[in-house]
Amino acid sequence: MKRAALGLGVLLACANATAVTPGTHWGYSGEAGPENWAKLTPEFSACGGKNQAPVDLSGLVEAELTPLQLSYTAGASKVVNLGHTVQVVYEPGSHLTLDGKDYELLQFHFHMPSENLIEGQSYPLEGHLVHADKDGNLAVLALMFKAGEHNAALARLWDKPPADGQTQQIAPMANVTALLPDDLDYYRFSGSLTTPPCTEGVRWLVLKQPLVASKQQINALTKAVGHANNRPPQPLNSRVVLQ
Ligand SMILES: [Zn+2]
Repeated sequence: MKRAALGLGVLLACANATAVTPGTHWGYSGEAGPENWAKLTPEFSACGGKNQAPVDLSGLVEAELTPLQLSYTAGASKVVNLGHTVQVVYEPGSHLTLDGKDYELLQFHFHMPSENLIEGQSYPLEGHLVHADKDGNLAVLALMFKAGEHNAALARLWDKPPADGQTQQIAPMANVTALLPDDLDYYRFSGSLTTPPCTEGVRWLVLKQPLVASKQQINALTKAVGHANNRPPQPLNSRVVLQ
């Protein structure tokens, strides 16, 4: 799949409802809320699937997970407020290697509060780094943030997050590596996009070590989106979470 087409698909997957399917509005509350996504349109039927994300990472199974292989360059070029999230667009050339395959970093975006839980615990902020391989398979690296000190790497991305529908340049481009914790130990499970159309087969990697951001930084993101944007945890069913 060509990067342009793929980038668009991933953008749309997290984008404004009207951009996904004209006429099919979805959101985080009320009639169009997460519990009804699967019923809104046949295109969202995967939202009722058995391998959905997010999840509560619990019942952990010990496994020999290979150390994360990340090769990120300074490619964070602009930040867009899509209505359902604030998203940073990444230029080509940054990769995650997983199971011997190359996944290119396309974008990262934020959920307030966290979507995944770690052994029942919610965090006020979760970042999702979205990668795709050449066949369009997705891998998401998730970062949890707790409230505390000011996060300089986040502050490098914006003085203030853009308002709904607005785009801001990041100049010079930033390297997402600055956001990552020292310890790259992670949990792994198989899940889905956490927004309609909830496509399954997404490789989820969740870093164990939480990051820290100030309450002001977290509140600014929540205010920019205007509401909580976390899908509740979905049943694990027959899946296991590896660590
Ligand atoms: Zn996400």
